[in-house]
Amino acid sequence: MFSPLSSPLETLNDIRQPGRGPESNFICLTVDIEEYYDAEVFSGIISQAERATYPPHVDKTTMDLLEIFADSNVRGTFFILGTVAEKKPGLVKAIMGAGHEIASHGFGHRMITRMSPTEFREDVRKSKRILEDVSGGLVRGYRAPTFSIVEKTKWAHEILLDEGFQYSSSVFPIRHDRYGWPEFGILPRKMAVNGNRWIWEFPLSVERIGSINIPFGGGGYLRLYPLFLTKCLFSRVLRAGRNAIVYVHPWEIDRQHPRVTIPLLKRIRHYAGISGMEGKMRELLRSLPFERMDHFFRCAERNS
Ligand SMILES: [Zn+2]
Repeated sequence: MFSPLSSPLETLNDIRQPGRGPESNFICLTVDIEEYYDAEVFSGIISQAERATYPPHVDKTTMDLLEIFADSNVRGTFFILGTVAEKKPGLVKAIMGAGHEIASHGFGHRMITRMSPTEFREDVRKSKRILEDVSGGLVRGYRAPTFSIVEKTKWAHEILLDEGFQYSSSVFPIRHDRYGWPEFGILPRKMAVNGNRWIWEFPLSVERIGSINIPFGGGGYLRLYPLFLTKCLFSRVLRAGRNAIVYVHPWEIDRQHPRVTIPLLKRIRHYAGISGMEGKMRELLRSLPFERMDHFFRCAERNS
């Protein structure tokens, strides 16, 4: 059973955090661990077979991120791709050893919109098993490749719940050519509610300006927006009594990112702003409050 999308009851599931001051709200620090060639921009350009010929960068860039986070003494949630965890269990252990939460980014980085429900179930089950075997702990969280839980793949929440996930952060409530579910709303919601079982969906951060949801706080938006604008949007969300989410990929701080020939628009989306990303992250981490996603999950359960 899916929870209705527009029922008045749905608002009861929102986390409005009444009475919490801005100092109580926080930004979830999240990282999607994948190789640069796993990014959707290279699908159809670098085949699965060709990937073995590209140099791996994820170890170095993930360790760089761990150092950046340690410098600011912040912990976050790492949504790790199954193919990376399978090849590099030591990297998963290094992330966990630094105090971060281990979560799943699926196994093969296929968009859910290109999978059947059965294929999706196999993909998430495999990724969860690998991560739990390596980490020895429970994996609660999931992030879909390329935010591909959209209206037509909303069946994914029920499968995630079945497979033992407790929260997802996979919906971007905007209009976009590759992803987006603008009608989802901007607040966390319980999904696939069935009696006393449900899964939380924590949508990616947007700020509502007029009738438009403006995306910010991660990926290309963070690389391309001036830092003062990103800080201003985060501050607005926190002042409004909501929590926010920042997301980053290891390849986004990789100054040695191999250059792959791709069309201009894709090139801008993928490569622009990489050289300034580390500085932006450091400034955000220095000036705003950050937490792991499982903290958000516990707050949601407590307040629901
Ligand atoms: Zn990804």
